[in-house]
Amino acid sequence: MEQRECTLCEQACQGSTEKQGAGNAPEWRRDMILGALEAGGTKMVCAIGNENGEILEQISIPTETPEITMPKLLSFFKGKGIEALGIGCFGPIDVNRDSETYGYITTTPKLAWQNYNIVGTFKKELGVPVGFDTDVNGSALGEYTWGIAKGLHSCIYITIGTGVGVGVIVDGNLLHGMMHPEGGHILLSKLPNDTYEGFCPFHKNCMEGLAAGPAIEGRWGKKAIELADREDVWEMEATYIAQALVDYTVLVSPQRIILGGGVMHQTQLLPLVRAKFKELLNGYVKTKELEDLDSYIVVQSLDDKQGIMGALKLGMMELERQG
Ligand code: ADP
Ligand code: ZN
Repeated sequence: MEQRECTLCEQACQGSTEKQGAGNAPEWRRDMILGALEAGGTKMVCAIGNENGEILEQISIPTETPEITMPKLLSFFKGKGIEALGIGCFGPIDVNRDSETYGYITTTPKLAWQNYNIVGTFKKELGVPVGFDTDVNGSALGEYTWGIAKGLHSCIYITIGTGVGVGVIVDGNLLHGMMHPEGGHILLSKLPNDTYEGFCPFHKNCMEGLAAGPAIEGRWGKKAIELADREDVWEMEATYIAQALVDYTVLVSPQRIILGGGVMHQTQLLPLVRAKFKELLNGYVKTKELEDLDSYIVVQSLDDKQGIMGALKLGMMELERQG
């Protein structure tokens, strides 16, 4: 069989030379049909795509109860000939394949979804392999496969939105461990001039409670987007983000840190984060990556499609695993 360069689907493309010459596609290309679901607390993004990360069709459905939402999701995916489904899911979730509740959404504050067997339901109804990971591990995977972390072996992806989540890839593997990282709840040093209590019900001074979108709104009394020209707001926000990034850097040693989520749409934030990060790390770690913080700390590169593209890849990986 002809050799080809395809690092993404080594197994899945075997035999693919049979179907040749479609449009401008390389000879070896065989478009797979894959389903992807980015399951969020407020909306479910569903897509059909292929092994190149191309999205062919996409819809968004509000997240209500499983009884209301699941039939809508299933009717989107059914009858489309998908070979696998990948799910990047809000958490916490059970990603331990040896566990009896593998594939369940577990202790989520979204009560209707607590202890819900999302993977089992899709497997039963669609009859295809179902890949499953956190939404942020999915986003990390999207950037690692097709985006700004392509070619690296270790990276982290952080979303700063309604909550804070951290996806981690180390040595080419999505990090799980005991369950999966919950890096949004890393504890930070509260700034002396910050009187805000934090909104996390578990911790007074975690990253999510102090730096997610609702924390900005709770502290300053206005939506983050309406505070764009307030220097003090973004100075404080950058300090909290930078504290977390220093911790992730010294612990996980990523080659690149990718920031996403609604709050990062404030473009003035990124340079402030880099400057604070430099100040707080204080020269302790010296690597070629850290010499250029403009390429070490970056924003997402896939136009906010990193999560759904990563979910495609999760489906592909599950297909290869089972194939
Ligand atoms: P989610 O986390 O629910 O997936 P987002 O990543 O869009 O969704 O995050 C929503 C949060 O981000 C809200 O708290 C909102 O205030 C904040 N946000 C959204 N857009 C902006 C913006 N342009 N500037 C600052 N904050 C924003
Ligand atoms: Zn917390």
